[in-house]
Amino acid sequence: MYLAKMNYLQVEDYLQHNDTIVIPVGSLENHGLHLPLGTDALIPEELARLLDARSPLLIAPAVNYGATDDLAGFAGTVSLGTEGLISLLRSICDQLYRHGFRHFIILNGHGGNTAAIQTVGLHLYNKGALLANLNWWLMAGQLNPAWAGGHGGGEETAGVMAVDPALIKTEYLHQPEGIRNDLGDALPYEAWTNVRYKGVSVSVPRRIDAITDNGWLVHSFRGDVPDRATPEWGRQMLASVADYIADFGEVFAKAPLPVPQK
Ligand SMILES: [Zn+2]
Repeated sequence: MYLAKMNYLQVEDYLQHNDTIVIPVGSLENHGLHLPLGTDALIPEELARLLDARSPLLIAPAVNYGATDDLAGFAGTVSLGTEGLISLLRSICDQLYRHGFRHFIILNGHGGNTAAIQTVGLHLYNKGALLANLNWWLMAGQLNPAWAGGHGGGEETAGVMAVDPALIKTEYLHQPEGIRNDLGDALPYEAWTNVRYKGVSVSVPRRIDAITDNGWLVHSFRGDVPDRATPEWGRQMLASVADYIADFGEVFAKAPLPVPQK
């Protein structure tokens, strides 16, 4: 059920027997030339649609801007920053809380959003509510290790293919990621904004356009290339993740609430 399609009496009725709300949270950011900027929003929204067919949980309108400052060098990327996302999500959740919602499930599409979601989760906990953050791409990799992938790699490409194969710019599917060792060969690229030195991975926060020509990064998932993705993979993967979310949501809805903290 979609909150935006209900009237307030239906919401009051829902709250009589369930105080759980699902909020898809995405991002608008470069994912390489083969994927659309809305990749991290399109997939959680598709998961919400699949969830709606499997579960009575109420689904709020998606938040489709996220915290993605490090990709801001690519045209079209728009970031709220972590503070902006905290502010927006906290405001949405506080108002839902006032109406009586106490169990919040975030369907998150973007790794950069997790710091903000964690902060809002603890804020809600302190008010006597619970937030569960479901990072779909990590869940998929745990449900089936063959699905694991990084930013713009096979996993996300398969996910977008499941939404609509026409969204893939197929002429760019075979393009190399164009990583450069921008901090010199003594500190080679490792994953996201990490470099490797003497076998240890070290984070050096910097803009992604300093590291790659086109903005897709395989993280540590070597071999996670977009041209291995298929629509069948994407459909199976998103269906499995949606099944999981439906089961998890049923159990999480009954999880005991914390005592409000000082
Ligand atoms: Zn992504």
